[in-house]
Amino acid sequence: MPHPEPSSVLPAQIAQNLARVRTRVDDAARAAGRAPSDVRLLVATKTQPANAVRAVVEAGADLIGENRVQELVAKAPDIADLVSAGRVAVHMIGHLQRNKVNQVLATATGVESVDSLSLAQALSARAVRDGRVLDVLVQVNVSGEGTKSGAAPDDAPALATAVAALDGLRLSGFMTIGAHSPDEAVVRAGFARLRGVRDAVVRSGAPGTADARELSMGMSGDLELAIAEGATIVRVGTAVFGPRLTPPR
Ligand SMILES: *Cc1c(COP(=O)(O)O)cnc(C)c1O
Repeated sequence: MPHPEPSSVLPAQIAQNLARVRTRVDDAARAAGRAPSDVRLLVATKTQPANAVRAVVEAGADLIGENRVQELVAKAPDIADLVSAGRVAVHMIGHLQRNKVNQVLATATGVESVDSLSLAQALSARAVRDGRVLDVLVQVNVSGEGTKSGAAPDDAPALATAVAALDGLRLSGFMTIGAHSPDEAVVRAGFARLRGVRDAVVRSGAPGTADARELSMGMSGDLELAIAEGATIVRVGTAVFGPRLTPPR
């Protein structure tokens, strides 16, 4: 894949957009009777060049997400100083194959897209070898749309329980991509479904599940609905950087 071109989006515009998104998040939290500080903003940086990623961190973003391994690896040297200084955490938010785990864990501090036990086992083995504990979220396909990865909602509790028992991993919660639907009720129901999965797993009392409270759900178009249903992390790209020139996978 070619190295992305320098962004034409100006740093000042990125900073202004980021502030607007944070205001949207805060307003949605208050409207839901929640504390704004309960909702973290993850900036999805896919297709954005390294200079735009640096600009959004300079503007105050402390959590970013990449959804393609190649892109994460390509930008890693350009953001390594920010990551090692603890200014930004990097989550993998896209589909991950077992044979790419080593590449991803060289930069990522968390993986939100755990959708199989075999992937979790590979992450666990690598984390143990490195003597670290990796934050992971189990991805759930709440909409059932075939284009989306993630465990089926009915299978997610068993997967989460198995993941939580692995050494080197800390199950911190659940992630989903909302339904692609103009019907708000459908989108909300999907987010509520993820919350139901989370609540069932935390209530189960199974080893390693007590901390699994995060709900990573909601993007530029549906973050208000997700926050109303309990999102603790929203993942936002286009509302910060403008429309992508290449389509998302
Ligand atoms: C791109 C992406 C987002 C952000 O989507 P926007 O609509 O640009 O806000 C969130 N989550 C995942 C997994 C993504 O790939």
